[in-house]
Amino acid sequence: MTKALFLTVLLSFAFSAQLSAQESPFPKGKVATVDNHTGTVWLSELSKADDVFDFNVAHATFAPGAKLDWHIHPGGQILMITEGTGYYQEKDKPVQIVHKGDVIKCAPGIAHWHGATPDSTFTYVAVSPTQKGETKWLQRVTDEEYRSADPSRIRKKTIRSEAQKLRDGVNL
Ligand code: MN
Repeated sequence: MTKALFLTVLLSFAFSAQLSAQESPFPKGKVATVDNHTGTVWLSELSKADDVFDFNVAHATFAPGAKLDWHIHPGGQILMITEGTGYYQEKDKPVQIVHKGDVIKCAPGIAHWHGATPDSTFTYVAVSPTQKGETKWLQRVTDEEYRSADPSRIRKKTIRSEAQKLRDGVNL
C-alpha cells in the first residue's frame, strides 16, 4: 500500500468514526411540514401516548438557524438535548444557550420557544404529557428575539468544556 493510499484510508476511517460519534441513535425521521416553525426540522415519533403512558416521546433535529414558533404546552414538556447547541427562551426572560446533555423543563402553561443556534444543528428527545391537551402554537419568533442571544456565551461554554475534558483526561 502506498503512503498516500494508506493516509486516505486512515483519514476516511477517522472521518466516519467522527461522524458516527455525532449521530443520534434515534431515527432522524421526516421533514416537518406543519406551519409552526422556520427552517428545516426533522421529527420522529419514538413513543405515542396510550392508555398506560400518557405522554408522547419524540425526537427532533433542527438544521442550523431552524426554530419553533412561540408555543405553550398545557401539560409541560421535558427536553433532553442529545446533539448540538440551541436556544431556549421563556416569555419575558432572556434567551438561554443550551447544549448536548442539558435537560430543560418547560413548565405547564409557559409560552416559550426552542431551536438551533445559527451555526449548529440541534437535536433533542422531547417528552410531552398529553392529559391536559395539545400544544398551543403562537406567533413566530422575530429576528430581534432570535438575535438577542449573546454569541460570546457559546464560545465561553465551548472553551470551558474543552478545558474540562483536558482536566478530566478524557480523550475524545
Ligand atoms: Mn416546547
